[in-house]
Amino acid sequence: MKYIGAHVSATGGVENAPENAHRIGATAFALFTKNQRQWFSSPLSAESIQLFKERCAAYGYTAAQILPHDSYLINLGHPQEEGLAKSRAAFLDEMQRCEQLGLSLLNFHPGSHLREISVEACLDRIAESINRTLDKTSGVTAVIENTAGQGSNVGFLFEHLAYIIDKVEDKSRVGVCIDTCHTLAAGYDLITPEGFEQTFRQLDEIVGLKYLRGMHINDSKKGLASHVDRHEVLREGELGAPLFERIMRDVRFEGIPLILETPDEERWSEEIAWLKSLCR
Ligand SMILES: [Zn+2]
Ligand SMILES: [Zn+2]
Repeated sequence: MKYIGAHVSATGGVENAPENAHRIGATAFALFTKNQRQWFSSPLSAESIQLFKERCAAYGYTAAQILPHDSYLINLGHPQEEGLAKSRAAFLDEMQRCEQLGLSLLNFHPGSHLREISVEACLDRIAESINRTLDKTSGVTAVIENTAGQGSNVGFLFEHLAYIIDKVEDKSRVGVCIDTCHTLAAGYDLITPEGFEQTFRQLDEIVGLKYLRGMHINDSKKGLASHVDRHEVLREGELGAPLFERIMRDVRFEGIPLILETPDEERWSEEIAWLKSLCR
């Protein structure tokens, strides 16, 4: 079973997200559980939590179908102590929100070295950040998203993801989310059939497909190895239809949230319907 959806709005409260997902025909969804551009948000109210759970149940969304995304401000590999401490505190808050909502996954961008420390030192900090957070929480898996390698972001090579996972103590609560746009931008060919096979073979050999806990299904405005993160509507970018047809027919991508982050939300229901039509 493929779980297909989009990163929907939680404006007005997390309890609005399930309805927004249901309205576009989604069988999965992503959301921010707080304002993604602010460091601090007030705690979730008991009423919000209750409504969120009730509506997920009413529309048939289980935790396996929901992939919350953390704030863009957080940098778990921050080179400076203050920035690192602030990021770790915010990440713990994000994890605890997921716990409160009964969710089992939290998707995040690994971090950036800001050209002040080495890639390895940055990856070490990220792994340590994950370990500290997992120690203080339970039931939620830290899902590392691969990046386009824009600026000083780490996590664009599968080796980076493997390096972090290797240093995480509780391997049962760490995973990866593969973003199709980021993967192409990072230099992995997802356009040709051979490239597709090779990319996921590499992912399996280097990271292990058992760690794949979600995917972001985006076309890309920029080409192979551009290192530029610009999502595009499906079939209107560099990736084109064949990639999405392959993913939807591939049993390796069953049972995990497959989330659109494409730029035109008016078209999500049409994109979801198309993806569903490709499944066997
Ligand atoms: Zn992301
Ligand atoms: Zn993404």
